[in-house]
Amino acid sequence: QPIIRIEKMIKKYELGGEIVMALNEASLTVQKGDFVSIMGPSGSGKSTFMNMIGCLDRPDSGHYFLDGEEVEKMNDSQLAEVRNNKIGFIFQNFNLLTKLTAFENVELPLLYRGVSTKERQNIIYECLDKVGLRDRAHHLPTQLSGGQQQRVAIARALAGNPPILLADEPTGALDSKTSKEIMKVMQDLNEQGHTIVLITHDPEVALQAKRRVRIQDGQLFEEKRLTEVGGEL
Ligand code: ADP
Ligand code: ADP
Repeated sequence: QPIIRIEKMIKKYELGGEIVMALNEASLTVQKGDFVSIMGPSGSGKSTFMNMIGCLDRPDSGHYFLDGEEVEKMNDSQLAEVRNNKIGFIFQNFNLLTKLTAFENVELPLLYRGVSTKERQNIIYECLDKVGLRDRAHHLPTQLSGGQQQRVAIARALAGNPPILLADEPTGALDSKTSKEIMKVMQDLNEQGHTIVLITHDPEVALQAKRRVRIQDGQLFEEKRLTEVGGEL
């Protein structure tokens, strides 16, 4: 059973009397253990699709099965619950709480889940280890570089042990060297079994994923795998 199955999703916006098809029968299936990039230019529907995958918004029509559950049948509180339990969000601007240390930021999803103090500590250090940041546990975000802040955000996304990591332009605020480091972290996590969906406008970033999907005018197209085109791109 796929972890994500989206079928013919439609989302329309009305803008000055005109209808914009932000998603126009977008379909996507993601298997457990996959690392998919969704790449497209500005206006192609990325944010809209990210909001749908992340259960932050609802489509006008289509089907969405998330880890076996039919999302479109849920009420708002059920939707909030799947969002919190199934998805670890990683954002362009890190979205860390600035008054909390790295440790405390990573702790948030665990507090939400009612995990005990002792267990929280184990999980937090384990997640900070995964992103190579244990020695910065008690630093505030302002005492960390952009790349380190994004690592904290990734550790926070991991803390609730969600079946999916959903990254929205995770390297968008970082220089190219730091971007490469963050993408290496993502690849390592995927090798450890984490399922990742990454949304980006940057072809260099998209290439680091195992599987690439292009979004164009609200529709998704599978890119050929490297091997199928003889290593040429
Ligand atoms: P991307 O993230 O790839 O830039 P978006 O999902 O933001 O693309 O937008 C897809 C299309 O939907 C664009 O034509 C955009 O102008 C339109 N759109 C997005 N959000 C709204 C909105 N709230 N109201 C009207 N049009 C919107
Ligand atoms: P954009 O892709 O347009 O730059 P963001 O990635 O910053 O937007 O955020 C997308 C949406 O997700 C926003 O409406 C934001 O408020 C919301 N959001 C941010 N963090 C979380 C979270 N941890 N859980 C649920 N929703 C969130």
